Amino acid sequence: MTVPTLGTRWPPIAKTARDWPVSPNLLDYRRTCAEFSWAEAQRQLDGLPDGRGLNIAHEAVDRHATGVGRHRVALRWLSKDGARRDFTYGDLREETSRFANVLKSLGVGKGDPVVVMAGRIPELYIAALGTLKNGSVFTPLFSAFGPEPIQSRIDIARAKVLVTTDALYRKKVEPIRALLPSLEQVLLIGDVTSIQSFARVRHLRTLMAAVDARFVIPATDPEDAALLHFTSGTTGKPKGALHVHHAVVAHHATARFALDLHPDDVFWCTADPGWVTGTSYGIIAPLTLGLTSIVDEADFDAERWYAILAREKVTVFYTAPTAIRMLMRGGAAATRPQAFPSLRFLASVGEPLNPEAVVWGVGAFGRPFHDNWWQTETGGIMIANFAAMDVRPGSMGRPLPGIEAAIVRRTGEGAIEVVDAPDTEGELALRPGWPSMFRGYLSDEARYRQCFVGGYYLTGDLARRDGDGYYWFVGRADDVIKSSGHLISPFEVESVLLEHPSVAEAGVIGKPDPVAFEIVKAFVALKPGFDADETLNRELLGFARVRLGAAVAPKEIEFRPSIPKNRAGKIMRRLLKAQELGLPQGDTSTLEAS
Ligand code: ATP
Ligand code: MG
Repeated sequence: MTVPTLGTRWPPIAKTARDWPVSPNLLDYRRTCAEFSWAEAQRQLDGLPDGRGLNIAHEAVDRHATGVGRHRVALRWLSKDGARRDFTYGDLREETSRFANVLKSLGVGKGDPVVVMAGRIPELYIAALGTLKNGSVFTPLFSAFGPEPIQSRIDIARAKVLVTTDALYRKKVEPIRALLPSLEQVLLIGDVTSIQSFARVRHLRTLMAAVDARFVIPATDPEDAALLHFTSGTTGKPKGALHVHHAVVAHHATARFALDLHPDDVFWCTADPGWVTGTSYGIIAPLTLGLTSIVDEADFDAERWYAILAREKVTVFYTAPTAIRMLMRGGAAATRPQAFPSLRFLASVGEPLNPEAVVWGVGAFGRPFHDNWWQTETGGIMIANFAAMDVRPGSMGRPLPGIEAAIVRRTGEGAIEVVDAPDTEGELALRPGWPSMFRGYLSDEARYRQCFVGGYYLTGDLARRDGDGYYWFVGRADDVIKSSGHLISPFEVESVLLEHPSVAEAGVIGKPDPVAFEIVKAFVALKPGFDADETLNRELLGFARVRLGAAVAPKEIEFRPSIPKNRAGKIMRRLLKAQELGLPQGDTSTLEAS
């Protein structure tokens, strides 16, 4: 691996075979892309016995729970207070079968949404997979949501069943129960006696004990609904994206290609299943490979994370830019690559990953972070830096085998043109047809249809592709700044600010300006030990001007104790803009409490 020096431009990180302790699943990119077909990818999975279709839970759990696979650890759960509990594939099969039997006994059937709201506790994972076994639709809700987001999402899903903990129910659901007319059943994890309206809830543990630990998965059409995910609400009101059982083909294939997962890996995806990453790659994909997946109940804590990576001998680590930047605050000195001899692949998703963070991984862990790109709507990773490929810091990588990406420009109502010239900005578009593509926005058919133009799915993100086929994120279409005839990427400006030793977080917006249309304004949160004063403000403006040039550099910098992010860890630029302009804040249901 050739490592660039921090502070210079960011040359590619070249890899050699010495960088792969195991043979990468995707070694020859061009050949694999040429030979790949989704039908062949599906043949890597089992399908339900007797040709009864394709069910996510069978591929994730039951097919591994026979023979020796039965004793392999599927989930290793680390509780907040330090306890550790292993679930083998055999355990998981029984528990999920019981949960499916509970649903069946309550008359919950195919296509019925089952809303699950809980922290990262084993019951959440059992409920998710048990719901899929029963042919019902797993609908996760992030446990930190307040009553309003809970109500609106249960309403959109028209959910009849909610699975949650006694504490969450008492605090958030009981007060609004009268406003949830669709809800027929509440299954409580924990202590039912603490609930006032006792008659309207059931005790999950009692129900589970009363049913059989065997369950025959009913025939499942690959197009049967399986998952309902709400988007992160970064650009506006969250949308409910519906996915089907066929998605498991993409979960499996993309985890092999983009995360390089092998059956003997210990994999840790830090995302919460309240968001799509935490379900696609925090529950389903790793289990389809029969490996051991780490689930940590606790929230981010740098010391704890380093300890987990080392003690659990994590081999593949999948996290998000916000978390990486929080680790970086402690400096690379906080870690030593020698402390993580098992770690062989690091990946990141959810937000653009600034080049400094990519390279920081080398000093801290002995590996760069591999950025990848996807959305709730795509259901799985679409563009990635692969294990066997040179990493270009700041690039999202290349499209996965089976994924046809393009840069397009909208040319009018319902019309686009494909931009072939390299290094030209446009909207990132994907040719529909991969299995985990969403099948609709619940209650918003018109919006779903608008996403498809000229034979492409338009992602709403702007990007460019270089001459070698690497994609570079520019910004969300709504966030890109237009200043004096230039199109400015907030990500590029934020990345440069983050290279300054004082900067912990940055969020960049376009501020309306009578002359330039917009000027670039940056909001900056400092690392501990730096003073938010005029001298540092001027230094940062100068630093950015030298690096970016006067046309792109921020004209204004405002210090903030923290930058508003949503609970999925994404910078809420629309909120910074609304605050700057004194406008209404819009939907803040996913905003992280500051
Ligand atoms: P909403 O659609 O409600 O505004 P959201 O788009 O943030 O929320 P998600 O589906 O969770 O909801 O996020 C997908 C988006 O996250 C992508 O469209 C893109 O803007 C951003 N994103 C994800 N991965 C990357 C990445 N590697 N680089 C840059 N941006 C990324
Ligand atoms: Mg989106």
